[in-house]
Amino acid sequence: MSDSVKYVLDENEIPKQWYNIAADLPEPPTPPLHPGTGQPLSSAELEPLFSRAVIEQEMSTERYIDIPQPVRDIYRQWRPSPLYRARRLERALDTPARIYYKYEGVSPAGSHKPNTAIAQAFYAREEGTKRLTTETGAGQWGSSLALAGSMFGLDVEVFMVRVSFDQKPYRRAFMESFGAKCIASPSAETAAGRSILADTPDSRGSLGIAISEAVERALERSDTKYVLGSVLNHVLLHQTVVGLEAIRQFELADDYPDTIIACTGGGSNFGGIVFPFLGRQLRGGEAVDILAVEPANCPTLTRGKYAYDFGDTAHLTPLVKMHTLGSNFVPPGFHAGGLRYHGMAPLVSQCVDLGYVQARAYHQKECFEAGLEFARAEGILPAPEANHAVIAAMDAAQECKKTGESRAILFNLCGHGHFDMPAYMDYSAGKLHDQAYNEGDMAMALAGLPSVAN
Ligand SMILES: *Cc1c(COP(=O)(O)O)cnc(C)c1O
Repeated sequence: MSDSVKYVLDENEIPKQWYNIAADLPEPPTPPLHPGTGQPLSSAELEPLFSRAVIEQEMSTERYIDIPQPVRDIYRQWRPSPLYRARRLERALDTPARIYYKYEGVSPAGSHKPNTAIAQAFYAREEGTKRLTTETGAGQWGSSLALAGSMFGLDVEVFMVRVSFDQKPYRRAFMESFGAKCIASPSAETAAGRSILADTPDSRGSLGIAISEAVERALERSDTKYVLGSVLNHVLLHQTVVGLEAIRQFELADDYPDTIIACTGGGSNFGGIVFPFLGRQLRGGEAVDILAVEPANCPTLTRGKYAYDFGDTAHLTPLVKMHTLGSNFVPPGFHAGGLRYHGMAPLVSQCVDLGYVQARAYHQKECFEAGLEFARAEGILPAPEANHAVIAAMDAAQECKKTGESRAILFNLCGHGHFDMPAYMDYSAGKLHDQAYNEGDMAMALAGLPSVAN
């Protein structure tokens, strides 16, 4: 057999519950802290920012949490997403490994992000919220939230990191098509943005800055909530539909992954595919090797410190314990915009700290090269972020070729690259460079970690 195999589930097999890894970790998740007092935050203190339902999920240690039926009804448009066995890629690599990928590019926004955008918009509308604010890096999250907002009749305002705003005009047009307002960040519309522009008028922006702007907006108005597309526990929770479906699909394949690989920006597509499998391992089931893959230019897990830090540049957010490069670290502009965040999901950081997860970093040129090799074998052009998972999966398969071991490798193909053609054009024209970050800037950002909790 040489053709790729697709494992499809019926729509009534969309999970009815999300899986919460907090129930199975040997130690409780680290709580978010008030930056002034260093004390754990109460639900009431988070309410000006977030919906009550997601605050409850954020703090929950229940193993399973029901997915509201209206959310499942929308999931039906593209879920369950397919799991593929990449036979053509296996043949191209001449590897004894069995390579599988779960494909989240089938969502209407082209990535895994609508899995949580739909849920968060649903809860906001249930609680009477009129407007959502958020930030976006590459534009995937903003697109997903624009879509979700239009489905639930909510206004959406998106602060988009300047470098991506300039690189990806189609993303902005996509958001506006769904009625969202898209603003380049740093902007003159918020105090946080104005203060960055005063110092650095040509700032490329960063997710940390854009978060400050979106949070400031939500704090100004009681009918407005802030929503986040990654990092927080409830976001990773919503993404576990990916891994839960994959477990069922591996039953159809009569196989089980030995290795699971995903790229990590804030950790949500990673947590989504990995946690249901890791939970089985923690409850005494099959053990899996797990690899988180990040860009060498924003090496949060491989070079960062595991410490309490702010989620944003202006220090408006709570402190969370995570691997961080320092909230003032601005990575150089590179094409996997969704991976340019200084921090990491606290749950992913904790799993790395506990030794359940290994991390590795790759440079962008080699990632694009792998992505094109994958595309030519499998017919899907990956998002630049997803190329980090692709290259690591291909390396794992090459390793099997050396050892003769036939391992099952699963990776998350978290999105397609159809909005990222300028990046592929740059790569093909030889215009893509592996710029190094500034070691001094990183050391300075790390030296500036808040002292209150560390
Ligand atoms: C947003 C995004 C990422 C990075 O976010 P995570 O929370 O780490 O998943 C990666 N890939 C794609 C396609 C994205 O849209």
